[in-house]
Amino acid sequence: MAGTVRDYYGVLEVRNDATAEEIKRAYRKLARELHPDVNQDPQAQNRFKDVTAAYEVLSDPEKRRIVDLGGDPLASGGGGGGGGGTQFNGFGGFSDIFETFFGGNGARGPRSRVRQGADALLRLELTLDEMAFGVQKDIAVETAVLCQTCHGDGCAPGTKPRTCDTCAGRGEVQSMQRSLLGPVMSSRPCPTCGGTGQQIPSPCPNCSGEGRVRARRTISIEVPGGIEDGMRIRMSGQGEVGSGGGPAGDLYIEVTEQPHHTFTREGSDLHCTLTVPMTAAALGAELELDTLDSREKVEIRPGTQSGSVLTLRGKGVPRLRSAARGDLHVHVEVQTPTKLDDSQTKLLRQLAELRNEEVSVTGNHRGLFSKVRDAFGPR
Ligand code: ZN
Repeated sequence: MAGTVRDYYGVLEVRNDATAEEIKRAYRKLARELHPDVNQDPQAQNRFKDVTAAYEVLSDPEKRRIVDLGGDPLASGGGGGGGGGTQFNGFGGFSDIFETFFGGNGARGPRSRVRQGADALLRLELTLDEMAFGVQKDIAVETAVLCQTCHGDGCAPGTKPRTCDTCAGRGEVQSMQRSLLGPVMSSRPCPTCGGTGQQIPSPCPNCSGEGRVRARRTISIEVPGGIEDGMRIRMSGQGEVGSGGGPAGDLYIEVTEQPHHTFTREGSDLHCTLTVPMTAAALGAELELDTLDSREKVEIRPGTQSGSVLTLRGKGVPRLRSAARGDLHVHVEVQTPTKLDDSQTKLLRQLAELRNEEVSVTGNHRGLFSKVRDAFGPR
């Protein structure tokens, strides 16, 4: 940021000759959209900082003059923004100026002690068969649940919350603060009751006044067939109960597929490798192959090459929420015999002679192909 002059007019979306009133109006409009109390988007929050900094500069005639002369009043020391992304440090805080404009002064009132609960995430490892055809699973979940002693209100049995002494139940305390617009009354959440306006004289012994406790329970989930690795199943309202017994968030179950000893999965297609002896590949054969849920005959045609692929239609994984199924691709790998005994060696030599076979070898460093004849010669 050092060295560059920021375009404060551009940030506020006003012309260079905007009146003080127009600048104020522009800021008010942008702050309404971008204030952190309204807009949770981190980008909006950064923009809010910029907008507020621009307003701080342009609403001050002295600072605005510096800008108009081509300077930057926040560039050195002024705003205190040495490094990092936050350039703005001027006021006592965003809520103060927000209240200055939008008439805080307790208008928001005490906030509820009850909070929406957070979502929870759980990972579940399943076999390929379970993922392909679906399964019902009972799984242990540990989340915050409603406290059964106080049913969420956080009070020991037979007691009630009482009005906070510090803020008299308003949830906010006020103080006089200096700002660019002169002294203003600003309010902040009451530190005693955390803004709720209530105090709990004797907290529930079971949950220490939280209204919720952590507990382990077992829930039953229905995994649909065709689900894929990394997909999540959402269980509405099965997440964490909020503080003060607030409504529970959702529970997400992320499924992971265990590696299968035979098949690898690609969407709804399956792949496997079938190793066949050289003789079977040459002469042809009929083999039996266990798929996920059936036994299939596979025909190896005479002269099958290593690397060729046989496709069994509809023998893959069922598609999610569909009757269709993927295919099973069988990759044939021809096995070259090893550890030949004398008579086998003799037979193969005869075969090679009968076929007048040569061995082709890919090249020397000139990139040429040369044929070598002596591979089968006497040792
Ligand atoms: Zn309790």
